[in-house]
Amino acid sequence: IKGDYARRVAYFDDALLQKKLEKNLIINEFEQALELGQIRIYLQAQTRRDGSLLGAEALARWIHPIKGLIAPDEFIPVLESAGLVHKLDLYVWDLAARQLAIWRDQGRDDLYLSVNISVQDQYYLDVYDVFTRLVEKYDLDPHKLKLEITETLFVTEMENHRYMLERLQAYGFEIEIDDFGSGYSSLNILKDIKADVIKIDMEFLQETVNVDRSWSILSALIRLIGQLHMDVITEGVETEEQVEALAQMGCQHFQGYYFCRPMPVDQFEKKYRI
Ligand code: C2E
Ligand code: CA
Ligand code: CA
Ligand code: CA
Repeated sequence: IKGDYARRVAYFDDALLQKKLEKNLIINEFEQALELGQIRIYLQAQTRRDGSLLGAEALARWIHPIKGLIAPDEFIPVLESAGLVHKLDLYVWDLAARQLAIWRDQGRDDLYLSVNISVQDQYYLDVYDVFTRLVEKYDLDPHKLKLEITETLFVTEMENHRYMLERLQAYGFEIEIDDFGSGYSSLNILKDIKADVIKIDMEFLQETVNVDRSWSILSALIRLIGQLHMDVITEGVETEEQVEALAQMGCQHFQGYYFCRPMPVDQFEKKYRI
């Protein structure tokens, strides 16, 4: 028994140590990764019911020479804990803006790109200043850049955030509330924030226990968001049946594996003949 206990402790220590090593690797190598161009954006389409393209969300990927593709869920929480995520975001926003400029020069100024804003960014950056400068740098129509913000941003300093968003919207940026419905203050957000787009969290579609309740909530949410004159996107659609049911409920815009997986820009351009 004693030996077994020692082994379990050793194993536990090993796993912890492994995690710590991985964390250190991410923190130590991240800024170099930016310089070496190992951070890329993948694009995932946002489409209509028939699959036709509206725009895309830019999602960060780390193409590591040894570890291969590292998903954001692995490195973003680590960057956040180290106070580095704003460096990722600055880089990703620039890549997205540059891509919009390329498409515009190719005559595709109908497409937009959505980028993610981390809750932490506001502590390190003047978000308004960064985005308005980007638009000037690439001579973009600000409407083509959509800013995705999660509900959790509003847990603190609601007034300040609302003011910042209103300035961004006045400049022409569109604001999307991401992961909507995953927090506990969703209705207040709907009441207080005049967002342009609400992205409904994919958890509603992935619910396996309270399925009927989830779908009832989805249906009511879609109607409610429409009545508030905001667009709705359902995220995480994976099957024809989901798309069909959501369309019946009045959802017109979709993002999910059913239509398009996140993919490198060149593949995305091929798929959609850009
Ligand atoms: P998110 O903003 O909610 O992005 C949607 C995530 O859902 C993406 O994961 C996407 O690949 C995944 N997804 C899309 N459709 C489906 C589907 O049909 N089924 C399933 N199971 N998943 C689907 P990804 O790319 O791994 O990104 C995870 C999260 O990392 C994002 O969640 C976002 O919060 C964060 N993130 C990604 N890129 C950035 C970035 O540049 N900056 C910041 N701050 N966060 C980022
Ligand atoms: Ca997002
Ligand atoms: Ca989301
Ligand atoms: Ca999410």
